[in-house]
Amino acid sequence: MDDDLQRQLDEIKLIFIGELDAKLKTLLDNWQRVLEDASTPDIIANLHLISHSLVGSGATFGFDQLSTASRKLEQSIKPHAKEQIRLSPPIIKDIQPLVDAVHTEIQAITSSTIAAPEIQQTIETTPTLATDANIIYAVLKDNNLQQELQNQLTFYGIKISPFSCIESLSDTLNTLLPKAIIIETDQIEQIERLIEINSHRVPIIFLSQESHSLQHQIFAVRAGGIAYFKMPVDLFQVVDKLDSITDSKNQPAFKVLIIEDEVSLSQHYAVSLQSAGMLTCIVNNPCNAMNKIVEFMPDVILMDIYMPVCPGVELAKIIRQNDTFSGIPIMYLSTESDIIKKTEALSQGADDFLQKPIEPEHLILSVRSRAERYLTLRNLVIRDSLTGLLNHSHIKESIDFQAHSAERNKTPLCFAMIDIDHFKSVNDQYGHAMGDQVIKSLTHLLKQRLRKTDIIGRMGGEEFGVLFPNTEPQYAVSIIDDIRHAFSNIKHTHEGSTFTVSFSCGISKYPGFSNTSEFSDAADKALYYAKNKGRNQVHLAEKTRTPDNE
Ligand code: GH3
Ligand code: MG
Ligand code: MG
Ligand code: MG
Repeated sequence: MDDDLQRQLDEIKLIFIGELDAKLKTLLDNWQRVLEDASTPDIIANLHLISHSLVGSGATFGFDQLSTASRKLEQSIKPHAKEQIRLSPPIIKDIQPLVDAVHTEIQAITSSTIAAPEIQQTIETTPTLATDANIIYAVLKDNNLQQELQNQLTFYGIKISPFSCIESLSDTLNTLLPKAIIIETDQIEQIERLIEINSHRVPIIFLSQESHSLQHQIFAVRAGGIAYFKMPVDLFQVVDKLDSITDSKNQPAFKVLIIEDEVSLSQHYAVSLQSAGMLTCIVNNPCNAMNKIVEFMPDVILMDIYMPVCPGVELAKIIRQNDTFSGIPIMYLSTESDIIKKTEALSQGADDFLQKPIEPEHLILSVRSRAERYLTLRNLVIRDSLTGLLNHSHIKESIDFQAHSAERNKTPLCFAMIDIDHFKSVNDQYGHAMGDQVIKSLTHLLKQRLRKTDIIGRMGGEEFGVLFPNTEPQYAVSIIDDIRHAFSNIKHTHEGSTFTVSFSCGISKYPGFSNTSEFSDAADKALYYAKNKGRNQVHLAEKTRTPDNE
């Protein structure tokens, strides 16, 4: 665990210790009511909840004796909390020493002077090497292949750095890491050598003259192989594979919603997850959970089971009833060790059960793998498979959503419809695969030039839609016009010759139309105006036009 995380966790532990007196007071007050024979089901439920929460938080913050004492108390109260009956004198007599034990443990913790945090020894870590995402290392036998690959990759801003043999890669891989390595080899010994050399597991694309055994391919995977192509290779496939290697630094952070009534525990989870680069949002009152889910749109929900007012299992059911959130993974965090109870809880709509206390590393790994799986599946639903852009139906939903928020926040919203010019003739002249490549090159350019906040979708075929939240039309026109200019200058290569392609675009602005379909139709009409005026141009819709840009 890194020092910074440890320091933050220590601070939260101090907050937890600071809260213990108040917890003890509530525990003793409730117990006093029992002793006075004034207990109600509420009081018993409170006692159960307090003792239960001390089991988990005590263990999480390293107070195992408090956790054990609280577990004994919790277990002796639990049946009565369920049956909602008053405690009889013999039962009270049995429970009294258990309350005393928790009392003693809390006092022992709060009265002991808190030792100054130990100075952490700095642990030697392997220095992380710099990566140049614009370089790939290549060990290729055929110079022509290398040249052709370089031609295709130039557009993506990628440069090939050639090496004569695998051995010569060794030193360079200790100084600067490339985006990927591409290697032509049929020798298993060379792949074995790569397992040693490629210790940072840079993604490798293997090219081979022959089809190889499974054994061969397993070695390739161990060396960092992400693809294995037999020659002659389709260059588009190689370029696609390289394009699909996403730079993890550019991936949006996973969003985790933490629903946990215990404040210090929720913070403990939050800082652990933040230390791994995740975004967190804490809900201590489960009654606020639904609002927060809508606002934060989490990729994973981490939820305590025992919470006042709304137990986790019921909250999970409510979340599952809403179609929009029915797919978000829910992970319970609980001290529950009874396998039948766990299975029951899982059958109510959650995906995982994490045992409290949980080590930060374990929490991070579990949450990350859930979030990754969820986003992979979600992407299949909302993204277009050729370009990875949002698909038509998702863009339509986004138009409605963004238009409402533009109205609410009184901010301008622009929508651009882009359509590639004479695309049919690209297909006819150069083939469908080349057409696909042109679609991808425009995709790449849009992703590269537009802001993170802009929403890009493929409306279908060679049509794209872009939503510009909080943007004046003048800006939208100017940025799309720059992209239009850049796109029309790309030299696409086909069998040694080159050609260029252009697009036309129509833009509309909201508010200014009575509903969102008029808003998107206006962009469509402006697009056809641009087509009629001779293509390769950008037009602003009628109602959006101002004297400046007319
Ligand atoms: P205009 O300038 O008027 O837009 O002419 P156009 O040729 O681009 O328009 P048209 O709508 O006649 O043709 C679009 C073509 O796009 C027809 C279709 O075969 C092709 N197309 C649609 N989807 C894809 C795709 O995913 N890949 C490829 N390669 N072609 C596609
Ligand atoms: Mg709780
Ligand atoms: Mg079209
Ligand atoms: Mg077209």
